[in-house]
Amino acid sequence: MALETKYFVLKPTASGAHGVASRIAMRTYAREIGDHDPELAESLRAWTLRAQLKEKFKPTSPVCPNKECNNYGCSHMIKQVIGHLGKFYCDYCGTTWERE
Ligand SMILES: [Zn+2]
Repeated sequence: MALETKYFVLKPTASGAHGVASRIAMRTYAREIGDHDPELAESLRAWTLRAQLKEKFKPTSPVCPNKECNNYGCSHMIKQVIGHLGKFYCDYCGTTWERE
């Protein structure tokens, strides 16, 4: 992807390298402007922290654990067992399991 404009978007809640880089960039920005604009610096730090927590606790989609199933490793057709938080079943093969 070529960078043709002078703007690009940080993604502080993203997982992986882009999220990490975005959060580092925001903390660096906050540090550099700290003396000049402490209020903005503090807002940026709080925002970065919130984004980091959001990324850390982002729920991952449950996937079918049955290797024999055509739906193995996929998250579509997966439903939550009614009344059992964290227990799922695959509507394809009928396997049920609990989230670790
Ligand atoms: Zn399945």
